[in-house]
Amino acid sequence: MVTTRYGGNSAPFNDEYLNKLYSANYSDVKVDQLTKGRVPTGTTINPSGSFHLKDGRDALAVTVSTVWKHGAIHRIYFSQAAFSSKELLASTIAHEIGHVVLGNSRLLSEAIISSGRFDSEAHRAIYKMQNELQNLNKWGNILNFKPIEFRYMDLVEDAFFSPLKFLIRPIKIH
Ligand SMILES: [Zn+2]
Repeated sequence: MVTTRYGGNSAPFNDEYLNKLYSANYSDVKVDQLTKGRVPTGTTINPSGSFHLKDGRDALAVTVSTVWKHGAIHRIYFSQAAFSSKELLASTIAHEIGHVVLGNSRLLSEAIISSGRFDSEAHRAIYKMQNELQNLNKWGNILNFKPIEFRYMDLVEDAFFSPLKFLIRPIKIH
């Protein structure tokens, strides 16, 4: 996701706050590690504090999933820019957990990952989920978050969006 500037209350830039926010809201989705600041291999840091990925995209956070015989290990790395506000951090956690949920969905991974459409379709559905999460929590005036994919919201496939609906919930911000 592309990031510019955000309002709201800045979040403490540490793993403790990050994990507290995750535990209070999304602990029903298992993530093996959530960590701030550390940079996944091949990633650099933009002047704004967001990540610049190997493939040229900018992101507030990155989920790295390692698939093993008996399941996957998910690690989420958060850039400093994701801590611009507590609301943005919560929304970013939901975004990355969306990747974890879709990554865990065997139906999607078998049917669609191989088709090469997975990333763009997954992102459309994740942005739609994030948009509804932000509306539900009335963050619209706090987060100036309008990814380009919003234009294509009507085209989001239910196969991707349905598994993400349960992530749209009232968020507890401490
Ligand atoms: Zn993403």
